[in-house]
Amino acid sequence: MSKFNRRSFLKLSSTSVIGITLGGISLKSLAAEKLDLDDPTAKALKYVHKSAEEGKNCANCAHVQAGDDPEWKPCALFPNKLVNNNGWCSAWMQKAG
Ligand code: SF4
Repeated sequence: MSKFNRRSFLKLSSTSVIGITLGGISLKSLAAEKLDLDDPTAKALKYVHKSAEEGKNCANCAHVQAGDDPEWKPCALFPNKLVNNNGWCSAWMQKAG
């Protein structure tokens, strides 16, 4: 790899890392509103604040994100919204680990 190409590669790599980091921060910081049950996506995915599915809830779903509130967390499927730890939707997927 020539010097120019290596420099370009490093520039691109560091820009990507910053973008990914900022993306993570913005997902958390923008997620301020509790998900409304009337939200069209929530309705389509049959989201509820209290799961009726044995052992399945937002707290143990692979799509839930870390958040500051102990009860309401960001979800990858509902940008800028918070879902309840006890909630559930049809996109539920077992969290690894
Ligand atoms: S995908 Fe559904 S079950 Fe999983 S965290 Fe989001 S709202 Fe909860």
